[in-house]
Amino acid sequence: MPEARASRAVIVAAGSELLTPGRVDTNSLAVTRTLNEIGVDVRCKIVVGDDREDLAAAVRAAIPQADVVVVTGGLGPTDDDVTREAVASVFGMPLEEDAEMVRVIRSRFDACGLPMPDVNRRQARVPRGAVALPNEHGTAPGLWIEQSGVVCVVLPGPPREMEPMFDRVARDRIAPRTGGRSVHRCVVRVAGRAESHVEEAVYPFYSRWRSNPVPIETSILASLGQVELHLSVRSETESVARRALERATDQLADVLGRDLVSSDGSRLEEVVGRLLRERGRRVATAESCTGGLVASRLTDIPGSSAYFGAGWVVYGNDAKVALLDIDRATIERHGAVSEPVARMMALGARARGNADYGIGITGVAGPGGGAPDKPVGVVFAALAGPEGAPLVRLLRLRGEREQVKLQASHAALDLLRRTLLR
Ligand code: AMP
Ligand code: MG
Repeated sequence: MPEARASRAVIVAAGSELLTPGRVDTNSLAVTRTLNEIGVDVRCKIVVGDDREDLAAAVRAAIPQADVVVVTGGLGPTDDDVTREAVASVFGMPLEEDAEMVRVIRSRFDACGLPMPDVNRRQARVPRGAVALPNEHGTAPGLWIEQSGVVCVVLPGPPREMEPMFDRVARDRIAPRTGGRSVHRCVVRVAGRAESHVEEAVYPFYSRWRSNPVPIETSILASLGQVELHLSVRSETESVARRALERATDQLADVLGRDLVSSDGSRLEEVVGRLLRERGRRVATAESCTGGLVASRLTDIPGSSAYFGAGWVVYGNDAKVALLDIDRATIERHGAVSEPVARMMALGARARGNADYGIGITGVAGPGGGAPDKPVGVVFAALAGPEGAPLVRLLRLRGEREQVKLQASHAALDLLRRTLLR
């Protein structure tokens, strides 16, 4: 029998908790990643409560849009778990207890020395004609249903049960239907340019790339203080895809220059760490408004002890004076949030931390504490190094407190990156 093609998917996440402010549907992200890897696009996602009619309506709505419908959640043993019933009704398949599944579920309880509660028998009910997918990490089996060219995969809700089950189904059952054209991606990170400026520089490539023999799709994503370009290629051959992406990222490197942070998805702190390591340099930090975020990001990278020795969180003025020898009179004259204090913090971190580079950050993270001459979002980021006088950048950042902190840490790390590239 010729197998149906699989290229479009719809994901249905079932769970009343997913409709509350307290829980998000993360399963669809993991499912999307796996589907994309094998060349299936996600067209639509639906989040629906544990209601049999609503769930059946969601699956019915998904079918005309998809070759593959992936449903997660609601396979538990209790009354509010209705996914099995809803899906069986959509496909008109009566549910029947699968003796082998009962045995498998019972043996899971046996292994823990517990009797199997009778309600768990519900989990062994399989729509007639469906395939039960074994669950190595829980009791609820998944389901594989095929009807009129549409595949419906039903998966348990807990991510640690869902993910390995779906990985296997994707590899063994869905990938053979995609024609082998998997999607290859790369993420290019850019710093120091706003989204619209990146777009302006990169726009001329979009149409050229799209009409390549191996077409490249591009999307641009801006988050705080950084812009990402996501490039993707659909190809049967990994090496062909890689070459196309490399050619494209080389072109980006030409137009973006030092604003290009990485073209292999590396985060800024990874790039900075690599540069420090390559050049045999060390860095120390003195942070006020970022509360140690720069040190935290640097130490997120395994092996960072090779280049990061010490960091200070000098929030109060007394701490600045006592720990980093910052001149109290300078603080009183210019204020703690000022260019001279940032410079002295960078110098103090460099000296006390016995490092090649010292980072100093001071600013007004908000929401209070702003003044007319130093409103919320004003941050001074300084870098002291062996090259001479410290560099200081005045940043005027927007956003909530956390966002100001993140952008400030980003600017400081980027200042170090650019200096190391000189
Ligand atoms: P269920 O299969 O509906 O019994 O799901 C059990 C548990 O899995 C829920 O309590 C959640 O913690 C988790 N879960 C269910 N659906 C999702 C989802 N879409 N994303 C993340 N976690 C989920
Ligand atoms: Mg549930």
